[in-house]
Amino acid sequence: MNCPICAKKTDPAFRPFCSQRCADIDLGKWLSGDYALPSQDPEDIEAAEEAAEAAKSAPVRPH
Ligand SMILES: [Zn+2]
Repeated sequence: MNCPICAKKTDPAFRPFCSQRCADIDLGKWLSGDYALPSQDPEDIEAAEEAAEAAKSAPVRPH
């Protein structure tokens, strides 16, 4: 099985992801309601990462 975020090999410790990073990205996607179309686009992954960081650090974060 491969990581649904970046398609690397899944790490049993972070199943179904390859790392904590990708687990956070996935969480960010869920929190931002943007999980309808999983994408391998690096820009999308970057945006999801930012969403995950924002979700973890502050509930309200003006742009
Ligand atoms: Zn991954």
